[in-house]
Amino acid sequence: MRERKPIRNSVRFEVFKRDSFTCQYCGRKAPDVVLQCDHINAVANGGDNDPMNLVTSCFECNSGKSDKTLDETHILDRQRAELEQLNERRAQLEMLIQWRDQLANLEQDQLATIEGKVIKSLACPGLGLSEGGRDSLRRMVKRFGAELVLDAAQSSAESYCERGPDGNVTHESAARAFSMIARVAAVLQLSKDKPYLRRLYYIRGILRRRLRYLNEAAAMQLMEEAVLHAMDIDWLERFAKQCRSWTQFRKELDAFIEEEIRGED
Ligand SMILES: [Zn+2]
Repeated sequence: MRERKPIRNSVRFEVFKRDSFTCQYCGRKAPDVVLQCDHINAVANGGDNDPMNLVTSCFECNSGKSDKTLDETHILDRQRAELEQLNERRAQLEMLIQWRDQLANLEQDQLATIEGKVIKSLACPGLGLSEGGRDSLRRMVKRFGAELVLDAAQSSAESYCERGPDGNVTHESAARAFSMIARVAAVLQLSKDKPYLRRLYYIRGILRRRLRYLNEAAAMQLMEEAVLHAMDIDWLERFAKQCRSWTQFRKELDAFIEEEIRGED
């Protein structure tokens, strides 16, 4: 029988990290279960300790397919086995903590990069983020993802950044642009799920500029309802550019929706 060489700790750490500290057989994770490195090709069959031949397995899953016949009936053996498990658990907790630190560092680096890009979008000389600003950026990235936040920062800068007499973007307007990023990101995300929403926001903007009174929330709801009933968005935009009042707009769309509903019966 071939000798079983112990797997080096650094190798085990790499394998656990690769498998996200998750048993690849049952999906349970450390520290809920004690993990082991299982040989895909068993040592008895010539398998080695190369990471490619190793997979993360919990103690239970591994012992189920183990080829060893350990007689653990003897109390001393059992105690020794328990002690080994305890030591193993401790070693793994340390690995787990180290892994989480590495992930946290990675997140920190990523956040610093995003922060740099957001500051660049706002293009305001001397602008930096406060601790609070950094915190809200971190929450935004967690909620919307980096890409959407960067898009939103760009779009918010275009909408809200204003230049002062010296030609530079003012701190005040840049701060406002920053504070609007989360809202812009939320709209961008909605438009991703419902591609027509972006156009409806645009049409709402037309109405807002043209009409003396507009119930913006009701207008959005009504337009969305109409579009879901197959109203042509191009027609809607043309209509928004020539209708004279919120009442006229509402009546027209209501009538369209009513007709569609009756037609569907
Ligand atoms: Zn398992």
